[in-house]
Amino acid sequence: MSIIHVVSMSGGKDSTATAILALEQHNRDACRFVFADTGNEHEMTYDYLRYLESNLGIHIEFVRRNFSDVWWPRRDYVRDAWPSKGVPMDVVQRALSVLERGPTGIPFLDLCIIKGRFPSRMAQFCTHELKVVPITEYQLSLIAGTEHLAWSWQGVRIEESKARRSKLQGTGACVISFHELGGGLFNYRPILRWKWQDVFEAHSLYGIKPNPLYLQGRERVGCLCINSGKQEINAWAKRDKDHIERIAEWKDIVSQVSKRANATFFPAPGDNDTARERGGIWQRVEWAKTTRGGRQYNLLDQLDGPTACSSSYGLCE
Ligand code: SF4
Repeated sequence: MSIIHVVSMSGGKDSTATAILALEQHNRDACRFVFADTGNEHEMTYDYLRYLESNLGIHIEFVRRNFSDVWWPRRDYVRDAWPSKGVPMDVVQRALSVLERGPTGIPFLDLCIIKGRFPSRMAQFCTHELKVVPITEYQLSLIAGTEHLAWSWQGVRIEESKARRSKLQGTGACVISFHELGGGLFNYRPILRWKWQDVFEAHSLYGIKPNPLYLQGRERVGCLCINSGKQEINAWAKRDKDHIERIAEWKDIVSQVSKRANATFFPAPGDNDTARERGGIWQRVEWAKTTRGGRQYNLLDQLDGPTACSSSYGLCE
């Protein structure tokens, strides 16, 4: 019985350091690297994953969720069940006009169409559906019908979030870094206690550059996210307006399949129709330019050109 070490890659600093650690501790043949592509990632992250492949001498398996199996049953449900539930026919027809076209092949958008809404902080279904499910399926496929076990290496650190700390901090100095999931699969979090300095040191020791998105002042390099703060939204708006425009187009599409005819990636505070109407990606972009509770424009930040380096990790030192 042998162990396959599967590192989940995100294109971020923590998963890169975890990959380096796996290569340092294990035979290269025993390691696998997997990236769950949401279709909502930054172009530079795709480039960075290619960079890691060539500079670490690894192959990164891209996995994408395919929603074809649930798409057509959803279309049938909207067509057959919505009218009997009192949904007006114009709303049904509008939703069917999107569903009849079939999946777009963009996992994030297809998931939102099927749900008729975008994820939110209270309903963060995207992580599970777009990342956990395809990565777990991939890991299980590696050991199916064999005697092998799979360790799922995850680059998470407890200093990153209070919620994570309270979930993973055991008693005393212990942290929950290893546990069995069943079916031959185990979770392993080897850098839980690392500081961000340790993470960048691991990059530097192996001559690996961090994702260049950090040099744009971003603290995270995942997809344009419901959890993005002002600084990050500002970075997307200043440098990647086409991606913001794409999210605005997705809002129109997902609104068409929403019973309320209104869905937004970034609602204003409050989970109600008014909040959805007042919210939206463009409203969020305007809010991201402000300071002091959202009223005052941060003029200095607006003067800062899009090529200015503002890494919050001191990477340019
Ligand atoms: S990065 Fe954000 S939007 Fe993307 S899958 Fe994770 S929680 Fe969802």
